[in-house]
Amino acid sequence: MGREMRLLGPAGRLVYSHAMTKRGIITLLVLVAIAIAVVLVLTLPGLLKSEEPEPAPVYVIAIDAGHGGRDPGANVDDIMEKDINLAIAQKLQVLVDAEPNLTAKMTRTLDIFVSLEERIRIATEAGATIYVSVQANSFVTEEASGVETIVSDTRPLDDDAWILAELLQNAVSEATGARDRGARSQESYMHRAEMPAAMVEVGYLTNPAERSLLVDPAYQDTIAAGLLAGIKQFIGYRYPSTTPSE
Ligand SMILES: [Zn+2]
Repeated sequence: MGREMRLLGPAGRLVYSHAMTKRGIITLLVLVAIAIAVVLVLTLPGLLKSEEPEPAPVYVIAIDAGHGGRDPGANVDDIMEKDINLAIAQKLQVLVDAEPNLTAKMTRTLDIFVSLEERIRIATEAGATIYVSVQANSFVTEEASGVETIVSDTRPLDDDAWILAELLQNAVSEATGARDRGARSQESYMHRAEMPAAMVEVGYLTNPAERSLLVDPAYQDTIAAGLLAGIKQFIGYRYPSTTPSE
């Protein structure tokens, strides 16, 4: 019935003795093959993965629609700032989410009150790279018009928030053709944000001509496109090696 195998240890002592049948050898070979296969299956994905390039990072863009719920913001002829802000912010959300390396995190998607602390907390917990608040302006006279962008006055001049603000300001002014009022600092809840944060006042509800534009979905699209352009420029500037070229 097959050969006798005797294995002797260093001292000449018999350590293993077994009558290996043909079936036994085949079984052993199958077990060894299975063991090799298991090791390959467990290690190959890791080996292959290390040879592939790192997946391109996806940057979280916190988009804040200013005001909401019991806080309407500016209210001119029953046109409420909170509604204009949300409409533009949601258009921007669609554009941001369509970008392969960007994803939007909204601080609100409904007409609800969200505290200023909560807005920053939402952005922070989402790991947002930047914070962009969409607002509409108002003034005591009708003449004031145009776009301006606000940075927290706690940000030093070499802070990236200023770069973000300038890029957003330029892009929205250029897209809309509205008066460019520039970027400036003021006391703001955005001092709580650790990421670069800017608030874009996209136009004046108190200016009759600009108010009729701000309620127009096509003009809101133009503003959103301008905001996206500024966001993409900032990401391209801040993370040049990880941003796909176009
Ligand atoms: Zn506002």
